[in-house]
Amino acid sequence: FQKIHVVNKGHDEIKALAVTFNRMIDRIEESFAKQRQFVSDASHELKTPLTIIEGYASLLLRWGLEDEKSGREAAESIYSEALRMRQMTMQLLQLAASEQIAPITETVDMVQLCAETITRLRHMVQRDIQLVTKVSQLIVEADPLQMKQMLILLLDNAIKYSSDLIHVELLAQSVNAEETIGLEIRVKDHGIGIPKEELAQVFERFYRVDPSRDRKTGGTGLGLSIARNIVNMNSGTIRIKSEVNVGTEVIVFFPFRIKQ
Ligand code: ADP
Repeated sequence: FQKIHVVNKGHDEIKALAVTFNRMIDRIEESFAKQRQFVSDASHELKTPLTIIEGYASLLLRWGLEDEKSGREAAESIYSEALRMRQMTMQLLQLAASEQIAPITETVDMVQLCAETITRLRHMVQRDIQLVTKVSQLIVEADPLQMKQMLILLLDNAIKYSSDLIHVELLAQSVNAEETIGLEIRVKDHGIGIPKEELAQVFERFYRVDPSRDRKTGGTGLGLSIARNIVNMNSGTIRIKSEVNVGTEVIVFFPFRIKQ
């Protein structure tokens, strides 16, 4: 793309048109640059588990069949890295969808939606969770799939980043935020927390506070980016409050029409 260069003595209208055109080009270039960065980040993230798989597979081929212990170790690593790649690929697809798919709203019973989400979560997480829910009897106009997806991501984080004792609170209520009545969802944990200086970055794609720890917990650094996209698609807001070793709270607000 090439910007239009206008000499100063042209017509005002043409000048204005050129400025608008140039701004458009800036935006398109910016969006291409973001896309390039994304492809490069995604390939980098996928390359890491792939390199580990390659390494262990070659080890297996050379020694593993003779030594049972290292053979098992290699197979286990290959398996866990393959799972990681699978999770990463699925979340990359979710991320792409969350940037493009507009919400399809219907009448949603929040109590029922939260109950269904929690049942799904309990199936996914094989750990004891102490989950306290305070969900008001609310009927809202919302996209149930996007709501569930966002709730799962936030609850999953609250569980992943808790220490041995998992105590998570889920709150859903109608509030009046900045003159707009809508739905507020809060997910609070008493886990490891996030250092203040990292709080601004956690919504960035692939950002992880502690990548070495997150390899074990299985984090991809995409969850909060997907959650933020869903919130943006629904004209909502999302913020996060946290203190190290005290816990984290994510507060989401949607200006949904509340029917009851
Ligand atoms: P991930 O898949 O790594 O969990 P997210 O985008 O959901 O990716 O979160 C980004 C990072 O923010 C995480 O890697 C983690 O370091 C931090 N984080 C997110 N939620 C919490 C939480 N509830 N408690 C502590 N840290 C969190």
